[in-house]
Amino acid sequence: MKGRKYMNEVLALLRKRYGKRLRTSLDHSNEWQLLVATMLSAQAQDRQVNKVTKRLFSKYNDIEDFASLKPQQLYPYIGSIGLYRGKARNIVNTAKILKRDFKLKIPRTIAGLTTLPGVGRKTANVVISNAFGINEGIAIDTHCITVANRLGVANTKDPKKIEQGLMKITDKKDWGDLTHLFIALGRDTCTARKKYCESCILRHICPSSDAR
Ligand code: SF4
Repeated sequence: MKGRKYMNEVLALLRKRYGKRLRTSLDHSNEWQLLVATMLSAQAQDRQVNKVTKRLFSKYNDIEDFASLKPQQLYPYIGSIGLYRGKARNIVNTAKILKRDFKLKIPRTIAGLTTLPGVGRKTANVVISNAFGINEGIAIDTHCITVANRLGVANTKDPKKIEQGLMKITDKKDWGDLTHLFIALGRDTCTARKKYCESCILRHICPSSDAR
């Protein structure tokens, strides 16, 4: 398995290529909206989520707004998103819990966030990294799974195991950026369906490259 020196080189090259895009592509204007958008993005495309949250957030803006709703009131807004009924229930229940037990504040730890309904480790990582700049873990999505395996820094599809492996061979300060960089590469060059190695900035060091 590849180590820290290799990962530092990978990250330096990816920063050169994608340096200006190191933020979530989910639109939001406060921490709560980022949490909602991330919950909606499970098994959905960010583009689709942004389309529905534009309308949703213009009507309901903050935790108090959502805590006063019934889940069904979200259906007209998020009905085009997969699993929307369950997501609506989790979002409204999360808002109620944040109002009742957390003084309307979003927890700043993975442990705190994952006590909320429908909030898994990946969502928690995205929120604390993007909203608070805290690197406690590494958010692993499907792009990260593909890229990490092709780069030889993972040998499993299990996000938790990939996260633990990457945390051992990367500096903590890089954890937030790593997610964005792997997603960027996975979207345009190292896609699940096809790898475009001839135009990849990592082609000379990647063990899966077709263009060495
Ligand atoms: S060289 Fe090919 S396999 Fe390796 S990261 Fe780039 S696109 Fe993916």
